[in-house]
Amino acid sequence: TKFENCVKQLFKTGNSSDVHRQTLIDLVNIAVWARPDKGSLPLLPARYHLFVRAPEGIFVSFYPESRIFLERREKTEEGYAVFDLASCRRCGQEYLVGDIVEGKLKHSFSKMDTRRKNRYFLLWKEETQLEEDEDEEVAVPEEIAKKGKIWKLCIKCGAVWEENEVSTCNCGHESGTIRTLIEIIPKNGILNKCYLCGLRSINIVREFIFQQDAPAA
Ligand SMILES: [Zn+2]
Ligand SMILES: [Zn+2]
Repeated sequence: TKFENCVKQLFKTGNSSDVHRQTLIDLVNIAVWARPDKGSLPLLPARYHLFVRAPEGIFVSFYPESRIFLERREKTEEGYAVFDLASCRRCGQEYLVGDIVEGKLKHSFSKMDTRRKNRYFLLWKEETQLEEDEDEEVAVPEEIAKKGKIWKLCIKCGAVWEENEVSTCNCGHESGTIRTLIEIIPKNGILNKCYLCGLRSINIVREFIFQQDAPAA
């Protein structure tokens, strides 16, 4: 894979190890969050991961800070929820993919014996507004909100609950630990249009997730 080539080039080795791979991922993780100052863009736009053709997909945890994993996993080492991430190749809008199981957003992981039906959740970006006005609840613009059902997500444990309801988990919810999701229900069950920028393409997000699911054209 191309990722593998990057690893080999960076470490000048023909024999890359897991340590090499994780180091590159960590480096990218740092560059995605590092900004010269608050008003600047990160050194590396977060959509870089579109170029990483990870065999299993891209998995993220958001607490205590965002981390990316290239292997399917249910939780971080600290026990925080890990989500299956997909994103639009044009605008970078992120989507979480999975199903709500016992009140929590879960993706299919190896311990889960049957592949579940995937649901798609547009991950609303609210942190940019929050920096200016920490306590203000940022409303989802109406034109986006009417495209799907709005949920709240606890980024610590993965609990989801409906907008305007009380949280269903016992985590401490300090600022930034609850995110807004907009569940998109595609007509044919496969998300092939970005609901933010309108880009249409076959399996717009899926191609980065379950490649074995790619339709045999
Ligand atoms: Zn929670
Ligand atoms: Zn888009």
